[in-house]
Amino acid sequence: MKIGILSRNRKLYSTKRLVEAAQERGHEVRVINHLRCYMNIASFKPSIHLDGELLSGFDAIIPRIGASVTFYGTAVVRQFEMMGTFCLNESVAISRSRDKLRSLQLLSRKGIGLPVTGFAHSPDDTDDLLNLVGGAPVVVKLLEGTQGKGVVLAETRNAAESVVEAFRGLNANFLVQEFVKEAKGADIRCFVIGEKVVAAMIRQGKEGEFRSNIHRGGSAKLIKITPEERSTAVRSARIMGLNVAGVDILRSNHGPVVMEVNSSPGLEGIEGATKKDVAGMIIEYIERHAKAGKTKTKGSG
Ligand code: ADP
Ligand code: MG
Repeated sequence: MKIGILSRNRKLYSTKRLVEAAQERGHEVRVINHLRCYMNIASFKPSIHLDGELLSGFDAIIPRIGASVTFYGTAVVRQFEMMGTFCLNESVAISRSRDKLRSLQLLSRKGIGLPVTGFAHSPDDTDDLLNLVGGAPVVVKLLEGTQGKGVVLAETRNAAESVVEAFRGLNANFLVQEFVKEAKGADIRCFVIGEKVVAAMIRQGKEGEFRSNIHRGGSAKLIKITPEERSTAVRSARIMGLNVAGVDILRSNHGPVVMEVNSSPGLEGIEGATKKDVAGMIIEYIERHAKAGKTKTKGSG
């Protein structure tokens, strides 16, 4: 097969591992910098070009779109879909997962356990908004943050009000969430491929830090998840429409609650913690599922 990986940096661990895994299985693989692609969207024969070359003949595309370039990155994925190329995760699903509020609303509608979460815009209702999620301590999150940036723990009501007002002053979209204290600074990353959790790790924030992100100094190790956590992760990925997803779960007093569903989950942490060949499993999934014209949405929506 000819596989394209949309990635801006071939030196990244995840990109390197996917290239290796594809080559080991005898595939031709190419890393494509999606920001350098340009497209003919009006033609009846959609095309994608890079540095004067027409990109063609790909059997599958693996999108690894960074959060800062979701807009253009998903446009490139959509164009591949229009050309009938199988994309591991589709553009609509990627956009959906990048918007935390939209994701949480979709998951909630399908009965997935979530931390109690509030969202508001106008400046007068801070007080009631905080009551809605049970009062301080609360977690306040920017809607499009990643790697723990833009996630603040407000331990007192005063602190919560100040943070909410500061975010409002910046005209940023944010949500206010019940602080799941009993998770003790740890969360569980379930790596889903197709209908299966193929690997899971627990991430523990560094001493004194409630955010477990590896980028914030957290550490990861292998964990055995419960059947309830497993089905929560698989259902969440399915609801988002993602074939490959990193589903982040907190262990709360009211069962597993989903914090977010990531459409380009990193491989370094999960392969390091579980010693599993997750990149190989992704390529195997593509071998089993990639067929021309098999994209569900054909770039619509
Ligand atoms: P990001 O997209 O920046 O990673 P997250 O929503 O995943 O943002 O939050 C970052 C980390 O903060 C999580 O991995 C988790 O450890 C912690 N966290 C987030 N929300 C809560 C919450 N409601 N209760 C307890 N801890 C939380
Ligand atoms: Mg996270």
